[in-house]
Amino acid sequence: MSAVSDTVTGDRRGARLARPRRWPFVGQPPLVRAYVTFIVGVYVVALVHGVLVTPVRGADLYPFAGLVLCGGVCVEATRRLGLPPGVSRDMLSAWWLPIAILLPPAYALIAPIPLSVVLYLRARPMLLFRRVFNTAAIGLAGGIASVLFSAVVPSAGSHDPRWLIGAGTGPVYAVACGLVFTAVNIAVVAVAVRAAAPESRWRDLLGDREAMTLDLVELCAGVLVTIACALSPMLLLIALPPVILLQRSLLHQQLQTAACTDAKTGLLNAAAWHREAATVVTRTRRTGHPLAVLIADVDHFKRVNDTHGHLVGDQVLIGVAGTLRTQVRESDLVGRFGGEEFVVLLPRTDAAEAMHIAERLRTRVASLSLPGDDTAVRVTISIGVALLGEHGADLVELLAAADLGLYRAKETGRDRVCVTAQRV
Ligand code: GH3
Ligand code: MG
Ligand code: MG
Repeated sequence: MSAVSDTVTGDRRGARLARPRRWPFVGQPPLVRAYVTFIVGVYVVALVHGVLVTPVRGADLYPFAGLVLCGGVCVEATRRLGLPPGVSRDMLSAWWLPIAILLPPAYALIAPIPLSVVLYLRARPMLLFRRVFNTAAIGLAGGIASVLFSAVVPSAGSHDPRWLIGAGTGPVYAVACGLVFTAVNIAVVAVAVRAAAPESRWRDLLGDREAMTLDLVELCAGVLVTIACALSPMLLLIALPPVILLQRSLLHQQLQTAACTDAKTGLLNAAAWHREAATVVTRTRRTGHPLAVLIADVDHFKRVNDTHGHLVGDQVLIGVAGTLRTQVRESDLVGRFGGEEFVVLLPRTDAAEAMHIAERLRTRVASLSLPGDDTAVRVTISIGVALLGEHGADLVELLAAADLGLYRAKETGRDRVCVTAQRV
């Protein structure tokens, strides 16, 4: 299940684009408020309609209660681990998917409500409107998948497991249902993140290869639990421990990624950048390829804080970070060194390319128009450049050289790119 937490983030190979917005619903941009209201409204209408047209049958309630209970146990078993910031994945679809496949669509719409209440009260602190939005996103995804599934497979929901395990096409339909569920859930969440953070890229929000692998694992678990539940709801007791284990390892891995991430900007934090950059520099020295390091510092940033306040200052940092990240290749390492200082490692980049990239970063940041309290905020950056071999033989020397370049850029007027020795 894809959900968004209080730091709205798009994942990208450990580096993230983030736009922390801890303000409550009324403090959100109008587009976010309109979208969230629309999704929750559609969900409520679908829920009321589903409940009114669905007869209550004991044969539905029994597996429904079992699956929701398993979801609750999963939440309890992992709640102390916490939740990584941003769009995160968990294994709860393993319990939603059987509900969508085996029961009438109304149950898929209802299912997220009890578990969201448990999550809200017991597990993860999250703004109420985000919890409600996530509930609506999961409910709608499950409802749509369930409606499509029962339209294509008329015998679904008949509690006769033969259609699912007997015919060869049963599991294929179940996987298709899971794909619809996952795709709708991710799309609904991604649009919300994009509305909150327009600088984030669709491909980051929809998930990289790692996120897709997690979705696939979750989908497979969901199909297996579906088959087990179709055979006998008692088998849920056997399915529960491995799903909890998967859930724990999934959260652990996501928390590890979060530990390498600067919470404010979503870039690599200083320690993670150092670690990864040192590895790349060592490898590059062996291969003899060119490599460049850039250090960028926002000019007169203190004035931005003094004039517009720290919250706007934070948004400026996020905007600058997003621009740096999106203007370089996936293989380049972008980190936040602290404060308003950023660092970029450019493997396989010679002097001319490094200057070209640095100049592009400078002009893109200068052309950014960031929303301030009443007027748009504009900032510039100064950049120092250092090249492997020419200005340093290891990461420490390269950083010292790039820092000298930055110092020169500041000294000679700011909003410019300098190599240690000369100005461009
Ligand atoms: P220069 O052009 O010489 O770099 O001037 P400057 O004002 O950018 O540099 P200075 O080092 O004097 O000020 C940096 C300011 O950045 C001071 C600090 O309060 C602010 N700052 C550091 N981290 C953050 C942050 O996370 N958020 C906000 N809003 N401000 C921050
Ligand atoms: Mg500065
Ligand atoms: Mg500084």
